[in-house]
Amino acid sequence: MPSNGRQLALPIWNEGEGPAADSGNPSHNGDDSAECGNDESGLIQGVLWPELAENVVVREEEQIMEHRLETETETEGRAGESGNEQDLEALKAACHVCDRCVLQATCTHVVFGEGNPEAKIMFVGEGPGREEDKQGRPFVGAAGQLLDKILASVGLTRDEVYITNVVKCRPPKNRMPNPDEIAACSPYLDTQIKRIDPSIIVCLGALATRTLIDKNAKITRIRGEWHEKDGILYMPTFHPAALLRDPSKKRPVWEDMKKVKEAFQNLQA
Ligand code: SF4
Repeated sequence: MPSNGRQLALPIWNEGEGPAADSGNPSHNGDDSAECGNDESGLIQGVLWPELAENVVVREEEQIMEHRLETETETEGRAGESGNEQDLEALKAACHVCDRCVLQATCTHVVFGEGNPEAKIMFVGEGPGREEDKQGRPFVGAAGQLLDKILASVGLTRDEVYITNVVKCRPPKNRMPNPDEIAACSPYLDTQIKRIDPSIIVCLGALATRTLIDKNAKITRIRGEWHEKDGILYMPTFHPAALLRDPSKKRPVWEDMKKVKEAFQNLQA
């Protein structure tokens, strides 16, 4: 990745400076809140996303969802930022009343994601943690506060990026989402990526890396290396929660984020 030579600020998330970890789920993000099990489920799924109620294969559902979004855009003549925002809002409404996997039954709020719908950089974590589940917003717990510092250290703000997770509902006791849950939720993430159309996706942690780059990938091996797929550059790095547990991971994440910043600057050049 070529550099424009700009000197980046030193990282500010020094050891011991970050907030203490919360209950421990590695990832955690958010959006505005909508309680799980919303009574509008039937209405919204029936009107906007009837296919979500059907037991069809995940890939088919993703294609249907994408087709619906494209059709709506063409029909209504929407384009650009407002179209993206509307599409994401419609997808979020469906997500907020989703019951495609068992995680819906135990979460407090669905955490869809938030940020700039036209963002050139997306950050994808694992799933909501305790604080995210409480607030319905991604990365607002201790790991989220550290993510804010990581962004700030390379001159980025949440307004410039889009932040979400592989699964949108908190797994009980912060356990890892299982493959069925990941598969059930993947149409949401895939559609978010298609609508936002980022140039760079930063995979925060092992699950996001395996979900988006390579199902057999080991984060410790491929961290810090660019991967290109379908015109998108993927940068796998450690999850902020891993840094809270092991401060020695801060330096490699800092190095990874410098690469991300340089790539971002080159996009703007
Ligand atoms: S985790 Fe995803 S698929 Fe499962 S209920 Fe929540 S939004 Fe639906």
